[in-house]
Amino acid sequence: MQFKDIVGHIELKNRLIQTVLNHRVSHAQLFLGAEGSEKLSLAIAYAQFIACKNKQFYGDIHGLQADSCGSCPSCMKYHKLAHPDLHFIFPVATNKNITSKPVSSQFLTEWRKALLESNCYLNLNEWYEKIGIENKQGRIGVDDANQIIKTLSMSSYEGEYKVMIIWMVEKLYHAAAPKLLKILEEPPEKTLFILIAEDTNSILKTILSRTQLLKLLPLQSEDISQYLNSNFQMSAEKTEALINLADGNFKNIIPVLSNQSENPPYFEDFRGAMLLAYKSDFRGITQKSDELAKIGRENLKAFLEYGLRIVRMCLYQGMGRSELVKSSHQELEFIQKFSRFIHTNNITPISEILNEAGSHIERNVSSKLVMTDSLLRIGQWLQMPK
Ligand SMILES: [Zn+2]
Repeated sequence: MQFKDIVGHIELKNRLIQTVLNHRVSHAQLFLGAEGSEKLSLAIAYAQFIACKNKQFYGDIHGLQADSCGSCPSCMKYHKLAHPDLHFIFPVATNKNITSKPVSSQFLTEWRKALLESNCYLNLNEWYEKIGIENKQGRIGVDDANQIIKTLSMSSYEGEYKVMIIWMVEKLYHAAAPKLLKILEEPPEKTLFILIAEDTNSILKTILSRTQLLKLLPLQSEDISQYLNSNFQMSAEKTEALINLADGNFKNIIPVLSNQSENPPYFEDFRGAMLLAYKSDFRGITQKSDELAKIGRENLKAFLEYGLRIVRMCLYQGMGRSELVKSSHQELEFIQKFSRFIHTNNITPISEILNEAGSHIERNVSSKLVMTDSLLRIGQWLQMPK
């Protein structure tokens, strides 16, 4: 993961780069950012930059002052998240295969795979689902705290920094905290702890006081448009559609970045699905649900997010608040027509159905069944008079 691969946060990236160039890397840092933000990818890019043997310097031309090279032996290992001096600790619990004393190292294969597949935009629920811990809550327990101490007491692979990334430190079990605190207080030389968190209220004050806080600000539309323009060739219309779809959260558009179509992603599918729902066309709905199930669960979740946004736009349009409607030309045409059927009497249940469908799909319920049921129910609400 290089800095240039990560959307936005240019100031923060440069600040991190400067800590390395000025030999002022603080040994314990806390990266704080909302769910779906770039905190984990920034932590990895930072560690990769520190370890890179061929750092690249850009001056100020692209905003970014420097980056790792992406091709030296160290970067190649980082690319697979398999550098011997890069260590991860994250919440775990027992599952079918690991029935007692679960520790992070037993889940490392799944962890690397989950990060590589999600571009490091993993959230806790998705992680728990990947490792099949069902309804249990994961935690960072005493055994993992012991593992941290053991790992850090061994010498580093290449005599350089050892990096310990602790993801979702909110989940640190209280009995494990004293051990972690102790090592944060007296760390071995050339050790870098990067703690990742979403909510400081759920972190022990003593941990907060021992770490340097780095807060990620929400992405701006310009961050996303700049990233899309420098990494993809796409029309202004499509860039705009993607910015709307992202709704401040870049994670929402990752599944559709590779989509070559000029139309806003998911537009045709959503329009088609709503038409079938309105007509209560059972056969059409099952067929559409079957098609949608095949796009995969991550895409389907993004599709539902998209649907929620369009439905909201329809409500604005219907209320005469067209200045709030952010859409492409094609979407607007649809929103103008469809807004006749979305109003204050049905917006809440329809939104709930879409939200609920998203969480069912996250929990592995059959996508086809979820979609069929949801579209049929939406169809009934669409018939409701204003
Ligand atoms: Zn390198």
